[in-house]
Amino acid sequence: MTCPRIEVDLAKIEVNARALVTLLSARGIDVTGVTKATLGSPEVARAMLAGGVMRLGDSRIDNLEAIRDAGIQAPLTLLRSPTPDQADRTVACASVSQVSEHEVVKALSAAAGRLGSIHGLVLMVELGDLREGILPENVLDFARYISRIPHVTLAGLGTNLACRAGVVPSADNMGELSALAALLEGALGLHLPIISGGNSANLAWAISAPAGRVNDLRLGESILLGCDPLTRKPLNGLHTDAFSLVVPIIESLAKPTAPRGAIGEAAFGVPTPMHERGTIIQTIASIGRQDVDPAGLTPPVGVRVLAASSDHLVLETQHRQAPGEEIRFGLDYSALLRAMTSPFVVATFTATKRHAPSFSPFLPPSIPSVVTPSPAIP
Ligand SMILES: *Cc1c(COP(=O)(O)O)cnc(C)c1O
Repeated sequence: MTCPRIEVDLAKIEVNARALVTLLSARGIDVTGVTKATLGSPEVARAMLAGGVMRLGDSRIDNLEAIRDAGIQAPLTLLRSPTPDQADRTVACASVSQVSEHEVVKALSAAAGRLGSIHGLVLMVELGDLREGILPENVLDFARYISRIPHVTLAGLGTNLACRAGVVPSADNMGELSALAALLEGALGLHLPIISGGNSANLAWAISAPAGRVNDLRLGESILLGCDPLTRKPLNGLHTDAFSLVVPIIESLAKPTAPRGAIGEAAFGVPTPMHERGTIIQTIASIGRQDVDPAGLTPPVGVRVLAASSDHLVLETQHRQAPGEEIRFGLDYSALLRAMTSPFVVATFTATKRHAPSFSPFLPPSIPSVVTPSPAIP
């Protein structure tokens, strides 16, 4: 194959999902599997479901529609508020939406009425990270408002941390969410089935503190890449290599290390100064910033990423490599997100059969950084 591709090992995703589902179910927490980094890939969605996630979530309606169109029946949650004009599409594919504006609730209510369905709402509460959500002091009024609107039901409360400002999920902010849930239930005489505490950044909290009323986490990165987004460290026993990026080489020549000529700005701003250290083998892989975040690539041993422009990834390799030869990279979340979104990168799926990794149900208070590799069975 001559274009860059992402190889996805669905068996590893399933193993990761199952490990996290098992860990969290012991604490009374269900997992919503988040597919947005894979553009709502039905293959990845099925692997998450096979690993036991309760439902699927995505921030984009197009991705949820792709999952529905593939025939997947699991309950779907829209993780980012729709605009009012997206209400009909939203209620047609998702059973629950995360909301924070009266106008959106009104639009979802009207759309659900037209469809003859009841749409679930998770009211998002701002607990410090300053992204989406209403302020805690407005939660009771907003919940009262929802309870008076037809065709929608208050399915629960949610919050999202560690995304915009990096605020760490803690006993304090999770306790605040639990207290708000109890306050609403007492004041309105209802039961809130979903208390959604956050994303993969909540895992360290979830394994070290009592969950309180929190009974759902929305996990993307930890299932897909096996790491904790707060530290970017591998999670014990999870696979960190379910995705790899394979890119063909187009040039591999001996070149000097320092540029020649007066230096202005490069295609992407001020270039990092390059010092002459003699002739090296400079190898170009046929991918660029349009397709991947070069800072998020892990090259193989002996290969260094030197620079990237729109369409050229400039590497230093030990030996010359023939054009068409392929080179394989690991990806972080940012690199994965962009590569899955590029029309110039194809995704290919495998499901290597292997023993489950020795996932340890015992976890110390902080997430350990040791990965237990699993033996691959040919
Ligand atoms: C992306 C997203 C998630 C999943 O985040 P991860 O860090 O990938 O686990 C959860 N909730 C919301 C609202 C999101 O937008």
